Amino acid sequence: MIVQVIVDVQAQQTDRLYDYRVPDEFVTIVRAGMRVIVPFGPRKVQGFVIRTSHTSTVPDDKLRAISDLTDLSPPLTDELLALSEWVRDHTVSYHISVLKSMLPAAMRAKYRKKLILKDDVMPDIPDQEQERIYGLMKDGEVADWDKWKKSASQDEQKQISAWISAGLVSVEPVVSTGETVKKLLHLCLIKEPHTDLESYAALEKRSPRQAEIVRALSAHDSKCLPVKELKAGSQMIRSLTEKGWVEKKEVSINRDPYSDRDFEKTHNRTLMPEQQEAFNRIVPAVHEARHEAFLIRGVTGSGKTEIYLQTIEQVLLKGKEAIMLVPEISLTPQMVTRFKERFGSRVAVLHSALSSGEKYDEWHRIRKGEVDVAVGARSAVFAPFEQIGIIIIDEEHEGSYKQEDNPRYHARDVALKRGELYNCPVILGSATPSLESYARAKKGVYTLIEMEKRVNDVQMPDVEIIDMKDELRSGNRSMFSEKLLEAMKQRIDKQEQIVLFLNRRGYSTFIMCRDCGFVAECPHCDISLTFHQSTNQLQCHYCGYHHTVPRQCPECTSESIRFFGTGTQKVEDELRQVLPDARVIRMDVDTTGKKGSHEKHLTAFGNHEADILLGTQMIAKGLDFPDITLVGVLAADSMLHLPDFRAGERTFQLLTQVSGRAGRHEKHGEVLVQTYTPDHYSIQDVVSHDYIGFFQKEMRMRKQAGYPPYYFLTLIHVSDESLDETVKATEAITRFLKEHLSDETKIYGPVASSIPRIKDRYRYQCMIKYKVEPKLTAVLQQVFVLFEGRLNKGGLQIAIDTNPNMML
Ligand code: ADP
Ligand code: ZN
Ligand code: ZN
Repeated sequence: MIVQVIVDVQAQQTDRLYDYRVPDEFVTIVRAGMRVIVPFGPRKVQGFVIRTSHTSTVPDDKLRAISDLTDLSPPLTDELLALSEWVRDHTVSYHISVLKSMLPAAMRAKYRKKLILKDDVMPDIPDQEQERIYGLMKDGEVADWDKWKKSASQDEQKQISAWISAGLVSVEPVVSTGETVKKLLHLCLIKEPHTDLESYAALEKRSPRQAEIVRALSAHDSKCLPVKELKAGSQMIRSLTEKGWVEKKEVSINRDPYSDRDFEKTHNRTLMPEQQEAFNRIVPAVHEARHEAFLIRGVTGSGKTEIYLQTIEQVLLKGKEAIMLVPEISLTPQMVTRFKERFGSRVAVLHSALSSGEKYDEWHRIRKGEVDVAVGARSAVFAPFEQIGIIIIDEEHEGSYKQEDNPRYHARDVALKRGELYNCPVILGSATPSLESYARAKKGVYTLIEMEKRVNDVQMPDVEIIDMKDELRSGNRSMFSEKLLEAMKQRIDKQEQIVLFLNRRGYSTFIMCRDCGFVAECPHCDISLTFHQSTNQLQCHYCGYHHTVPRQCPECTSESIRFFGTGTQKVEDELRQVLPDARVIRMDVDTTGKKGSHEKHLTAFGNHEADILLGTQMIAKGLDFPDITLVGVLAADSMLHLPDFRAGERTFQLLTQVSGRAGRHEKHGEVLVQTYTPDHYSIQDVVSHDYIGFFQKEMRMRKQAGYPPYYFLTLIHVSDESLDETVKATEAITRFLKEHLSDETKIYGPVASSIPRIKDRYRYQCMIKYKVEPKLTAVLQQVFVLFEGRLNKGGLQIAIDTNPNMML
């Protein structure tokens, strides 16, 4: 018996099937979709069995046998295997990276080297030497050579290396996966920095990395963090333990994230007329097991989720399964609860906030058929069901459905493909569909369902634009307009609630010298550093570099160096000045980094423990609290001026989403949008809740400029440590594409990326614009062949992004 295997080696030349012989003992077990361990050159690697067969073109004496099986039943179904080939071609990725991304991270292979004493040569060694060997290698074995090396002394390392070269000790590659791990080594803080400031100051001075770990632990509620997450070496841990800061602890991880909660069963609500109509149009496709794609454009609060729930119920009644995708940030406890309440324990949740063990367990419940609904973010589109009856993508316009790393797939494309394979409907839902989807629906590729009314005829909020240039002219230098301030005061008096939204992207706080204009920049990336008040540090958001805030300008030594721009922290400070009695909850990356803190903040706000919820993107979606009657948007145009053709679309979508948080129930909602660009249609059309008006204007713009959905784009990113190499490689690619693609296709490049350097690597790109280009996948694969052997982690890198979501 022969198996054809894709091996876990990421390179163009190894991205093909390799034949292996199956030893007799495995013959009855081995099947396509299983992971196996195979010899590959001098190493052992993990591989995926794609096919089994009885013949091979490889001569018998060249054919190697598989070493072991990782699985006893295949984690990947036949359908997922077929899908993986489609994703590979569609995204121009390595097959192995697609296969790996279909499984939870816990199932990824770990490679170790094991040292074993060779018993047969031992008798020839003098006793004294033998004792030393057994002493160093406990039980004659070192389970993990790399790990052992880190804790061993130089002498010990040299000694073992010598034995290896002398052939006394053999090195064996071991491939394993961590999926059964239920306990994790944690580091726990036993002394808080503020209780021993003196030694903490010394630590910070002498071992800043160690101080960083102490800080991280101190900031965490449980005062414990997995060693892995801390990226602390054993030396560092030893030193911190000896100094009395931390201790090691095995902490077992809770594998069912929702086991401690009871969910009360909820029942179907009587649908509103628009909901009923939508439901009636979708359900036949469920019953007839027919592939049909629906686009529901329903204003915020029109009750799309209730339609999803009732449609899923129909699917379950037929004994089939449902995949429900929601964007990472709206996968809030509120959202999960709605599904758990309706479908109980038959729901698995795949969420990035789960530990990798929890994720593995949830995934396994799907694979074993213990659940029939999977709710999750992007990667849940690969949920290993075998009888899918529907796939739903809520907020289909969301950027997070696109994976920005290899394989660069879009969950929407994968969902449509799986819907085709399973003959089942796919629903895309949004208040503000992506231009691509709405255009496709207009053309009849998707069935368009529109819902203009909110449930129970709740009115859409009143949206008003405030021109901040006028405020400035009338002498108001505050970040709050007169009108917004007044409105906030009113709401607080009436004990109603306020959401203040600040888009962080593009409007971060940076440090500038007022005298010479010096701006603090990251030494490794071409980007300015962001000021963080909580740590009084400047931080690079790309590489993590940080530095204390200078007191003087490094250029001109002036002391008028201060921070500019508007960050959430700064807004919070100003709020305290203008509304000293208001209770504020701030939600941004700084306050929600810890597990569970996101939920805690929202629950507190729901319980009226605060009047104002101030936050970034993460509060734009999914919030549904009855007493929010005012939404203030502080810098509506901060996104509008990014160098990306989707800037207008994103602005409209975001403003509509945020506005949708106001007045969702009995109380009427008001939205105040502060902007310096009051006349732009991306902002104007939010006021009139006019998606279609916006769509038409934006489409005209896209047509003129030749952007999607009129054209398709593919971006090729090239990076290297040397600027010269980066440019040369990009030039070569551009030339190659011009020669091999059709004449109608336009190729732009090489151009520097909008952030031309990140982490000391230069970045260039080349853009392909086309309408029809049947040869594209093949030609792009050739690009990798062109650079065969020259691509590596530290040096030249090429990334291909078909249908890019971000142009930056
Ligand atoms: P959307 O997903 O379109 O923003 P939701 O599904 O969240 O809207 O519905 C908005 C609110 O209306 C929610 O509080 C939901 O519980 C409620 N709701 C939805 N459908 C109905 C219905 N048919 N009858 C009563 N309330 C409903
Ligand atoms: Zn200066
Ligand atoms: Zn940096």
